[in-house]
This record gives sequence, C-alpha cells and structure tokens, in this order.
Amino acid sequence: MATRSPIEVLYGSAHQAQLDRCLHCGLCLSVCPTYALSGRESEAPRGRINLMRAVAEGRIGLDDPTLAVHLDNCLVCRACETACPSGVHYGELVEVTRAALAATHRPGRLARFARWAGLRQLMPYPRRLRLLALGAWLYERSGLQALARRSGLLRGRLRSIEALAPPVRLRRFPDGRAFPPRGQLRGRVAVLQGCIQEAFLGQVNDATVRVLQRNGYEVLIPRGQTCCGAAHVHNGEEELARQLARQNIDALLALEVDAIISNAGGCGATLKSYADLLRDDPDYRTRVAAFVAKVRDISEFLAERAVEPPRATLPARTTYVDSCHLRNVQKVVQQPRALLRSIPGLELVELRQPERCCGSAGVYNLVHPELAEPILDAKMADIKATGAEIVVVSNTGCHMQILAGVRRSGLPARVMHVVEVLDEAYRREG
Ligand code: SF4
Ligand code: SF4
Repeated sequence: MATRSPIEVLYGSAHQAQLDRCLHCGLCLSVCPTYALSGRESEAPRGRINLMRAVAEGRIGLDDPTLAVHLDNCLVCRACETACPSGVHYGELVEVTRAALAATHRPGRLARFARWAGLRQLMPYPRRLRLLALGAWLYERSGLQALARRSGLLRGRLRSIEALAPPVRLRRFPDGRAFPPRGQLRGRVAVLQGCIQEAFLGQVNDATVRVLQRNGYEVLIPRGQTCCGAAHVHNGEEELARQLARQNIDALLALEVDAIISNAGGCGATLKSYADLLRDDPDYRTRVAAFVAKVRDISEFLAERAVEPPRATLPARTTYVDSCHLRNVQKVVQQPRALLRSIPGLELVELRQPERCCGSAGVYNLVHPELAEPILDAKMADIKATGAEIVVVSNTGCHMQILAGVRRSGLPARVMHVVEVLDEAYRREG
C-alpha cells in the first residue's frame, strides 16, 4: 500500500475539495478585518487560501515562513464564510493547517509561554483561574491598578494584557448547585459556566441562572465541567481540546436535562463541534451526538422557548455587538436582537458593520495586540456613532475586549451581556 505524504494527510479529500471551491472572486475581502487593516492580499481570506493551496500542491512546505505568519494573523472570525458565494469552509481549512503547523513549527518564546500558561496551566483549571481573579480583584481594590496605569510603567504587550482585566466582583461560586424555578416548572437545564467567564465575569452566569429561573426552568450547575476547548482548537492544541470535550460530556450529559446552555458564542460553537473533534473516538461517538443535540446558546434557547417578555421598562439607547462565533458559526443572529427588542422602552440601534470582529478572538488580543488594538478602535468608532448607553455583548472575549475599548475611549456606556440586560429588566418588575 502506498504511503500517504504529510500533505495528503493534512489535506484529505474533503479539505482538498474546500480549497478547490474557492473561485478567487474576492467577495470575502470586504468583511475581513485583517485585510481592512493592511490592504494586503496575503492578509485576506483569498490570499490565505492561495497559501494553503500552495501547500496542498507541494509548491511550498509547512516550513514556509509566510504561511505561519499570515495564518497566525487570521482572527478565525469566519466573517469571510458568510460572504462567500461558493460556501468555502474557511475556518476548517485554517484549523487543520494550524494543527499541522503546531506540530512542525516552533513559535517565538513569548508566544510559546503565553500558550503554555493560558491553554495548559490556566484554562482547564477553574480553581487556578479563580485565584487569578482574586489577585486581579486585590490589584484593583488596593489602588495598585490605578497607580500602575498612571505611572506609565505598563508598556507594550504588558499594557495591552493589563488593559483587558475586567472589574472583578467577588461572589459565591455556584458549582454543584441546583436552582429551583420561579413559578410553574417548564423544564430543567444545565449551564456551562465557561472558564474565564466564571472566574472574571461571573455576574453573567448569575444573570443566566436568574433569567432561566424567572421563566420556569430548574437550573443545574454540575461540578466537573471545564473549559470548552475553543482556544485550544484555534491554536492547534487538538489533543488537549479532546480531553476537555470528554470531561464536559461526562459532567453535563450525566444529567437528565432538556438543554445544555452556553452563554458565550465561542464556547457554544465549540460545544456544537464536539462531534467533529471526537470523530475518531469510538467510546464517545454515540454520547457526543446526544450531547451536541442538547447544546443551545442562551439567546437561542430563550427565543426557541418563547419566554415571557419583561413587563417593566428599561429605557436605554442600546447597540448589539455580534460575537463572530455566535453569528458566523452558530448562525444565531436574530434571537439576541429579538430578546432585546422585547424589552419595553429599550431602543436597539444597529452598528454600521455588525459583521466586523472586535479583535478579541480567543487569545488573539493577548498574542497580537498590535493588530487587535486597531481592529478594536474601528469597532469602537462604530459603537460610538450609535450613541448607545448600553453596549450588549454575547461572548466572554468580546465582553472583555469591549470593556477595555470603552474604558480606553472614555465612552460613557455600560457593557452588558444580553442576559444581564434581560435580568435587569425582569428585576425592575419588582
Ligand atoms: S477568518 Fe476573519 S480574519 Fe481570518 S481571513 Fe476570514 S474574515 Fe479575515
Ligand atoms: S468569497 Fe469565497 S470563493 Fe470568493 S475568494 Fe473568498 S473564499 Fe474564494
């Protein structure tokens, strides 16, 4: 039997067909944030597809330095997929190429450290993240943060990373608890807490529980769940992502629930892709299908179940920032908007370019602050033009990125998740 070359292994027939699908029409260029920033073809989806095709055809090797740079600069926001008339699954192509690059290409020392610390030492461990969040709380409350920011000692990448720390609220962690419904029982759901979300933006999880309770759902927060593995998949750490997927399936599928709820666009997209991630694992094949069938984004679930609109008014000019993975991958676009429009008094103003990524993209803003910051500036200009008092988000990374953007630009606006806005409206009912 003939041995398959690494390129054939990398680009199986399905991926080869995806590469061949590209018509070079360039319709994807107008939605690509990295192309908007540089104006260079090699920083556009079409250029990156051409590079991957050159690998598949053996014209360049995986060690070609331009390949690693241009694929690394991609946000994998997948806006290009929604603009593509030929249906190229661009995200799949990038992920398979990045996984191959991770196996053959050694990134710089700083990038290696950031990935080792973030992906391997922190995200899979909720307790370590909570300790880090406690440190961030102490740093802020002690006045050290204000001092450090005023002193000008924070420079370069350190300044960019520090700017992303959201104000942390201390709270009781809800792991292993069951929250009863308010009023008549309509069903039972489990909530994925998320790693960064639970440690740094736990108020979003608390609001998720309250909104579900308010609508008649018993809510379970099972112990043993972990990070969804999104950042690991996007950074070529597929084996670790598979371990996390198995752990989540074991923790969340063991319960008799109607749905498994995610309130972060990136996490939900990853949970829904577990069948693909575990395609070669015979022990999980049946269970993963049952798991994926139950996964819903919180907005998707609430809209599907036709929840009761708030009765109290929340008069505020508001804009909604789509999460790329909620919009472009999960295709949940209208549901969060419909939920916001159901709130009496709330005015929803659309962004001019709702499809544009905010520059967060997993750990992209940590690894590429020089690209993420101008991408965020463009997003903030769009937000500012709406005159919004509340900027609504639906993903953890976007939440932290927009919070940093609002602070940096001095915009007098609150940044809230969709469920936090709904929760506030319900709480006004008294
Ligand atoms: S995924 Fe986003 S950043 Fe990457 S090529 Fe497509 S539009 Fe550009
Ligand atoms: S829109 Fe689709 S077919 Fe056209 S260049 Fe982009 S990826 Fe290729």
